[in-house]
This record gives sequence, C-alpha cells and structure tokens, in this order.
Amino acid sequence: MGKEEVLKQIAEKILGSRRTVVFVGAGLSTESGIPDFRSPGGIWTRFDPEEFTYQNFLASERAREKYWQLGREIYALIKSALPNAAHLAIAEMEKMGLLDCLITQNIDGLHFKAGNSPERVIEIHGTVMYVLCLTCAKRYERDEIEARLAAGEKVPRCNDCGGLLKPATVAFGQPMPERETAEAFRRAAAAELFICIGSSLVVHPAAQLPVVAKDNGAFLAIINRDATTCDAIADIVYRGLAGPTMEKIMEHVREMRS
Ligand code: NAD
Repeated sequence: MGKEEVLKQIAEKILGSRRTVVFVGAGLSTESGIPDFRSPGGIWTRFDPEEFTYQNFLASERAREKYWQLGREIYALIKSALPNAAHLAIAEMEKMGLLDCLITQNIDGLHFKAGNSPERVIEIHGTVMYVLCLTCAKRYERDEIEARLAAGEKVPRCNDCGGLLKPATVAFGQPMPERETAEAFRRAAAAELFICIGSSLVVHPAAQLPVVAKDNGAFLAIINRDATTCDAIADIVYRGLAGPTMEKIMEHVREMRS
C-alpha cells in the first residue's frame, strides 16, 4: 500500500470508529520547537537524567536548586511555544466529534492552546503550568512561582505549610497521578481505534497503553518519525512527521465526510 493510501485508511478508521483514543508523546511538540528526550539535541543528551530523579529532589537542597534551574529553562521554552499542525488536527478531531479522549505524556499544555477541552485531555505525566506543595498539595499557578524565582528564591516553599514545592510534572521515580493513570488505562481498554503519535513508547507504564488497547481489540495505528517498541503489534505503522501527517489525515477525513 502506498503512503497516501495508508493515510486514507487511517482517515477511514477515524470516521468509522465510535471510540478513538489518541495517545501522544514528546515527538508531537518538536515541530513547536520543544525538544524531545531522546533525539539528538534532546533534553537528556544535555542533562543527566539520573540527577533529576524524584528521590534526589527529596534528598538535597542542591538537587532541588538544580531541578528548578532546569525547570525554569524548560518552562521559558514551553511558555513561548505555539501549537503546530498536529495539535491543531487533534483539536479538530474533538470539534468534529471524532475524539473519545487524548492521552498525553506531554507536560507543555499545547493541546489547550490548540483548542482541546480539559474534559477530553488526560495528562498522565502532569503539567508545567502548575506547581504543587508536596506536603499539603496546595496548587499554585506556575507564573506566581516563576515570579518568586525571578526575584531570587532558589528553592521555593509553600506559603501555607512550608513544604517543598515542585512543578506539577511527574519526575523519574515519582509515582504517576492515580486518577489520570487509571482513567487512561480504562479508556485504552475501551478504545476501538488507538492512535499513537510522536512517542518512542519506551517510558513505562505509559508505553503499556497501546498494548492494553490492542489486547482489548482496538485497531492500533502508530505515527512516528522513528521505530517504536510497539511497531510489531500495530495494525498500521506510518513513518512520518506528526504535523504534515496529521494535516493530511484530517484533509482526507474532511473530504470523506463531505
Ligand atoms: P521520546 O523522546 O522518548 O520519543 C519521541 C519520539 O518522537 C521519538 O521516537 C522520535 O522519533 C519521535 N519524533 C520526534 N519528532 C517527531 C515529529 N516531528 N513527528 C513524529 N515523530 C517525531 O518521548 P516520549 O515517548 O514522549 O517519552 C518521553 C517522556 O518525555 C514523556 O514522559 C514526556 O512526558 C516527556 N517530555 C515531554 C515533552 C513535552 O511536553 N513537549 C518534551 C520532552 C519530554
């Protein structure tokens, strides 16, 4: 089958499915200028992931200071980023009533800038847009804490209880958010069509989601620039960039629907 035919087949599947779950990773946002983790130039080719674990964050003031330094760099990049064609395509799927939910490993909030509604998006690795107190769970707007950091604080603490503040993202070694994780696995198991975009599918337990979907009878499509760990079990594997690929798929969806 030619590449265009494959895109048409994905479009047909989207139109024919009653429950489509889209599952995305860092590759969805590289075209918005946010590097992924593992590609050349990615975040972990410049920083040592071993240093930025949750356990280190809890263990020492120096580790927390470095965590916030890296966090500020990532947040500045994310804040100025705009959604790309892939984010817009997924938002269009929602508007057309073709999206059961979007499960995202991304922490950049670009889905909301693109127009997806919070009820349809499950952020399983958290978000940079908020900061949480690890003791009393008080939630702060990220910009409020950024202002404190810009004013010279190195390791911010909770105004109410003095507990440690941490970006509301899931660090290596940190437990996943229970409600979001359970919901993601429930939706994956119920999916008729499960589309993975821009993820190497190596980070667990998230990488288990396509397997759960497939085991429960979903049609599994993978769109990614490089090979993924689930290619062997997928019904369709499409090698391409997320933006132009999703743009084409939505063109076919619109054409087929009209
Ligand atoms: P990953 O870095 O392991 O994999 C990214 C995949 O995307 C790679 O296989 C790469 O080939 C592919 N890719 C890169 N650019 C692409 C493009 N334009 N089109 C199609 N494919 C492209 O990322 P992951 O699987 O999401 O797992 C790593 C973790 O990184 C996740 O937990 C996520 O939370 C975190 N992360 C998030 C962001 C973000 O929020 N934007 C950025 C970096 C890392």
